[in-house]
Amino acid sequence: MFVKTFRSLLAACIVLPLMAVAASARPLDKTELDALRTEYVLANAEFTLLHEFGHAAFDAFDVPLFSREEEAADTVATVLMILNYDVQSGPAGVDRLLMVSAEWYQEWEARGRVTELKPYWDEHPLSIVRFYNINCLAMGSNEDLLSLSLDTKLLPVERGWFCDQEFARAKHAVEWLYRQYRRAPEVSKGRGARTPMLSVHYDKPVGEDNRRVYEILRQSRIFARIAGRLDQVMDWPFPVKVSVTNCGGSPDAFYKSQVHTIFVCLDLLADFGRLADRRAAEGFADLCANPLISNVMGRRLGCESGARPDDSPGK
Ligand SMILES: [Zn+2]
Repeated sequence: MFVKTFRSLLAACIVLPLMAVAASARPLDKTELDALRTEYVLANAEFTLLHEFGHAAFDAFDVPLFSREEEAADTVATVLMILNYDVQSGPAGVDRLLMVSAEWYQEWEARGRVTELKPYWDEHPLSIVRFYNINCLAMGSNEDLLSLSLDTKLLPVERGWFCDQEFARAKHAVEWLYRQYRRAPEVSKGRGARTPMLSVHYDKPVGEDNRRVYEILRQSRIFARIAGRLDQVMDWPFPVKVSVTNCGGSPDAFYKSQVHTIFVCLDLLADFGRLADRRAAEGFADLCANPLISNVMGRRLGCESGARPDDSPGK
């Protein structure tokens, strides 16, 4: 009991000086909103693909798991994004992870609470739990991020206190996976170089919403980059195909082990766009009141300077 109270007090001491932050937001113009929407869709598309590659890796490399596979796949995706964007060295790269955890929060606000689409016994954690899990790993990777987010709605102090250890353990697991199954460097390039084991295929988009996200995704080349990188570092025992396809309105993504294929529905990416629009329509003043969000994304969200001792991000 004493330990917990002491932790809370210490956390308050860390956070209090950071409370004088921007708390209002100017309206964004269409170009700014479109840019933000694109970033949001791509950040969540990246997380989705890495999560599915987590499933594929567990299948291909016979990885021993001590918890539910869905949680482990989230951990792989989160840690890979933290490492890719070097969040450990500087807080700027955390913006994409904030957009991913925001998506789970939006899912919960828009659907989870009301319809209970995700029942408690489901193999996936509840959306709101995924929001905190991702925040914990992301903030736990960098002391400054932890100070800025601790005891805000992003990360309650009771959870945040051990997030640095949670991140260290998760990073260790991902590095173990890399070490255990890393691919030997190519002896020679050019002729004789092996064909890639991971490949990305796109179906023609159906419908306006799917077409819009299809174009964003193709232009970014983010899926090809991720597949290329994972192909380079790991010794995949069989080819894994990524199929970006239409799912008749079902917002889904999954790995099918029988055919070693990751299916990513354009409908899911379109849904990310819809939730981004829904969030933008609410305005960003509450996000600007959060010290971390204001610090990392304030310019893009239109945060205006002001001093208000309010740490509630409403996110
Ligand atoms: Zn999954």
